[in-house]
Amino acid sequence: MSASVNKETCVGCGACVDACPCGALSLEDGVAVVSDDCAGCGACTDACPTDSISLD
Ligand code: SF4
Ligand code: SF4
Repeated sequence: MSASVNKETCVGCGACVDACPCGALSLEDGVAVVSDDCAGCGACTDACPTDSISLD
């Protein structure tokens, strides 16, 4: 399982970056991006106010 960000709906708020226990999220050009460090825990999906993160 790994998180993926919908770039069309992400507003770059950073809530997911703060919520991730693995440091796997960062903001690039105002959009969240997921690194290979993602453990698939789902904390970011719960934290995102725009439902922009899904787990695949
Ligand atoms: S699923 Fe968990 S480990 Fe992966 S990016 Fe989201 S908060 Fe971080
Ligand atoms: S919490 Fe959602 S809207 Fe905010 S930066 Fe992360 S993916 Fe984008």
